[in-house]
Amino acid sequence: MKIVFLGPPGAGKGTQAVDLALEFGIAHISTGDMLRAEIKAGTELGKLAQSYIDAGNLVPDEVAVDIIRHRLKKDDAKNGYILDGFPRTVPQAEMLEEMLKDMGTALDRAIYLEASEEVIIERLSGRRICRECGKIYHTTNMPSRSPGICDLCGGETYQRPDDQPDAIRQRLQVYQEKTADLIQWYADRDLLTTVAADIAREDTYKELSELFEQLK
Ligand code: AMP
Repeated sequence: MKIVFLGPPGAGKGTQAVDLALEFGIAHISTGDMLRAEIKAGTELGKLAQSYIDAGNLVPDEVAVDIIRHRLKKDDAKNGYILDGFPRTVPQAEMLEEMLKDMGTALDRAIYLEASEEVIIERLSGRRICRECGKIYHTTNMPSRSPGICDLCGGETYQRPDDQPDAIRQRLQVYQEKTADLIQWYADRDLLTTVAADIAREDTYKELSELFEQLK
């Protein structure tokens, strides 16, 4: 099962993908998580990516494609995967299609998680993340049991710099300019399914889980 998650930042792609990947035994591949890991490790790639990410801009297409190219070759991608945050531009989608063709395969579905701007802003501004394991919380909708401490691993939770108001505005603008066109791009290839994502998280999960069952 090879799935792409589309949708604006804050639609819940990461939150849903973590649980679905676990339930269906496939990999959750988030370019955002991989780039943040590079920043944390202080690598050259991390240094290059940081200024783009903190300002709410996209890293260059070649950088994102390179990361995905290596990641898809790893063993745990053999059972299938959810791509979360990739592709984010039409050229990335074209390169992914080409890359999969070279590997003798293709995507099964692109799932668009649709949410209103109001819900997105509320979600992003309250989002907190564990520095250690990446688990996602929300200050009011999904708080950790002890404020600032991850329920799973005891790590410190923090607010991503790009979840500050100025960066949120920039990310939403970048999404409209560069990423939103992918919805039509995948619809044109008969690969698109839309799922409501501004309802309760559990309800979106149920719909996604049923869809994954059919795709299995
Ligand atoms: P995310 O965690 O998916 O919200 O990604 C955080 C940030 O990482 C984005 O705002 C971009 O700066 C960068 N990023 C992640 N994935 C991509 C991608 N496919 N292409 C370009 N930039 C990306």
